[in-house]
Amino acid sequence: MSDHVIPAPLVPVIPTTGGGMFPVRRVYCIGRNFAAHAIEMGHNPDREPPFFFQKNPDNLDASGTFPYPPHTSDVHHEVELLVGLKSGGMNITVDDALSHVWGYGVSLDMTRRDLQGEMKKMGRPWEIGKAFEQSGPVGPLRPVSEIGHPDHGRIALLVNGDLRQEGDLNQMIWKVPEMISYLSEYFELSAGDVIMAGTPSGVNSVERGDVMEASIDGVGLLTVKVI
Ligand code: MN
Repeated sequence: MSDHVIPAPLVPVIPTTGGGMFPVRRVYCIGRNFAAHAIEMGHNPDREPPFFFQKNPDNLDASGTFPYPPHTSDVHHEVELLVGLKSGGMNITVDDALSHVWGYGVSLDMTRRDLQGEMKKMGRPWEIGKAFEQSGPVGPLRPVSEIGHPDHGRIALLVNGDLRQEGDLNQMIWKVPEMISYLSEYFELSAGDVIMAGTPSGVNSVERGDVMEASIDGVGLLTVKVI
């Protein structure tokens, strides 16, 4: 018998290519991890210490649709590599970091850019721009046992067939093992934590009816319709 006083919320899950489900505990997102994107956002592209923000686990959504959110007129796409952890800990070394990865996927860090911009100006937190309902469309996670640890390969996003974003995973300023190690100095990482690994340049707005096709070579293709 549960002693919960209300029904326990469901644990959010991401599908995997093998058919099983990957339960999600936390969602960490890195900011400005491609130099060309840092520049387009008006920032220094040098390798400064990374910074992170979070989405909520239940913001992730594998339905293939993205409902246009309220209180914005400028919703941007950000195609990102998704990293799913099978274990964690604190003070993980760079050399040991990849041993904690279960698999990889394609994800979108959808952003209410207008609201994020207002929060930046006021020095306030970003959640209202980043952590809203269905703000994290995801494709299935593919296990390391199938694809290894992708550290290069084209990452791209098309809207209605037109190329909007393009880069290569080898352009990431902070590599996946470095991100895991850095995060683990500040947070206790755990199985079910996922990291959205940053977006290449070309972020831009979408409208209802648009179809986004996000792809990462060797990882997958994610098609999402804005409704
Ligand atoms: Mn992002």
